[in-house]
Amino acid sequence: MNNKRIAIVGAGVAGISLAILATKQGHQVSLYERDTEVSSMGAGVTLWPNAMFVLQQLGLEKEIKQFGGAPLHMRQFNLQGVQQTEFNIEEVNAVSGYSSVTILRRDLMRILARALEDLGVNIHFNRTMTATDIDGLKQEFDLVVGADGRMNSVVRQSLYTDKLLPCYQGFINIIGISQLDEKYLNNTIHDFRDTNERFGIVPVNKGECYWAAGWSTKIDKGRTLISWYQEMQQRFLTWPNPVQKVLQSYEKSSLKLIFVHDLDPLPYWHCDNVLIIGDAAHAPLPTSGQGACQALEDAWHLARGLAKNDRLEKILNDFYQQRIAKTTATQNIGRQLAKQIFTNSSVAQSSVAGISARQLSEFWMQGLERKQI
Ligand SMILES: Cc1cc2nc3c(=O)[nH]c(=O)nc-3n(C[C@H](O)[C@H](O)[C@H](O)COP(=O)(O)OP(=O)(O)OC[C@H]3O[C@@H](n4cnc5c(N)ncnc54)[C@H](O)[C@@H]3O)c2cc1C
Repeated sequence: MNNKRIAIVGAGVAGISLAILATKQGHQVSLYERDTEVSSMGAGVTLWPNAMFVLQQLGLEKEIKQFGGAPLHMRQFNLQGVQQTEFNIEEVNAVSGYSSVTILRRDLMRILARALEDLGVNIHFNRTMTATDIDGLKQEFDLVVGADGRMNSVVRQSLYTDKLLPCYQGFINIIGISQLDEKYLNNTIHDFRDTNERFGIVPVNKGECYWAAGWSTKIDKGRTLISWYQEMQQRFLTWPNPVQKVLQSYEKSSLKLIFVHDLDPLPYWHCDNVLIIGDAAHAPLPTSGQGACQALEDAWHLARGLAKNDRLEKILNDFYQQRIAKTTATQNIGRQLAKQIFTNSSVAQSSVAGISARQLSEFWMQGLERKQI
């Protein structure tokens, strides 16, 4: 094994997962994070079977399940609370061989960070890397990996001469965490829709749930956060009961407003010994439900490539070839659904309407071979 010195910029899902896998392979990893601790920003994520495959390879499946919830169904409702469609999550789990888990982001990040710490790797916090720093890392390390997220990735920008800007997709999300009697959600992801508006609620466990309110709007940075939150309360005031309940019981500190951006697919992700992964490379919209899942897949694929001991150029080329079709499809799915929901005059269909559990499983599990790396 040709052990490498690897610098990773960004201790998010992609960065920490890669750091764990690469360290286990014997590479020497340095991980830099701009914040003072691992970020728990963002409410929660649904880890679909492809993500659970990677988490199993990381040795974390059991712990993730312990802190997460086990969703059985995803149901779409109209404004009267009448069910429109249902998707059986248990069926897709059975076909895939891995059970989907819903989890609060703070728990996911804590579990990942602890696993890295257990390997004796400390994250270098308070290190906001700049373009000059990236130049320095390029000299010092065999490989520099940018896992520095969707909006302002300095590593992504270092690969391109033109300024690359994420694309605003015309809607906002306000996300939060609430406590709600489990009888209201019953292990079911709830998706309430009206024209250009959506309210999704995802049960986790012990009555905790995370949610996202979305509606189409222009970016208006002049407005105060309070006024956006008030608008949310007004818009969803008369929506069916679970929506009202979560809006009465959220943790104040969990609220976050996001002007939702994604990236156009990029023609390349690396140059010399610098590579981008995760949202920095292919951020999809939250309507894809796959951002963190794809970030985990990137970590697994890259680690597998590194284990092959090929020339770095070949490893990074192969990585792009293996990942570009699936991540582009994920970005497109997210955009199509967002367009239906937020720019149409009628209520959009379910994201998985007309797709069988087998088809969805085939897409999610594509490229993930069940062998250890
Ligand atoms: C509302 C919403 C709901 C979502 N729901 C889901 C879901 O259900 N399922 C799912 O799979 N995905 C979901 N996602 C997407 C998911 O959150 C992201 O795709 C995922 O977090 C990407 O991981 P990452 O590691 O690439 O980037 P991030 O998690 O953004 O991590 C990037 C890290 O880099 C650090 N950083 C940035 N710049 C620098 C710098 N210059 N120097 C040092 N450090 C830096 C940041 O502080 C951060 O810690 C959702 C996203 C949103 C907005």
